[in-house]
Amino acid sequence: MPSMRPSGSPIRNRVMTDAANDNMLIIMKCNGCKKTVHFWAVDLIKVLGPRHQIHVPPFACSRCKTMEYIHMSWAVANSHNTQELTVRRPVELVVKWLWKDEKA
Ligand SMILES: [Zn+2]
Repeated sequence: MPSMRPSGSPIRNRVMTDAANDNMLIIMKCNGCKKTVHFWAVDLIKVLGPRHQIHVPPFACSRCKTMEYIHMSWAVANSHNTQELTVRRPVELVVKWLWKDEKA
């Protein structure tokens, strides 16, 4: 009996590259404090890489400092759902030195 799926194409979760190709917004809502942040999938690729699965929270809630209450969702952006919408965008990569004490 033939398979419904072509062989060699395992089921996989959507990743940021898929979402960016569909011009998607990634919506991260914390159910602890109700804070919601919108990101462009194409921006998250720069930070998380192209293979990051879109249902996996990329960051902890900046208020609650935990990922425990984060709910991820996504939507295809269009002129109706992006009017008046604030989207968090990467501005600058900051490189920081870490120091440790050791025996001279
Ligand atoms: Zn929170």
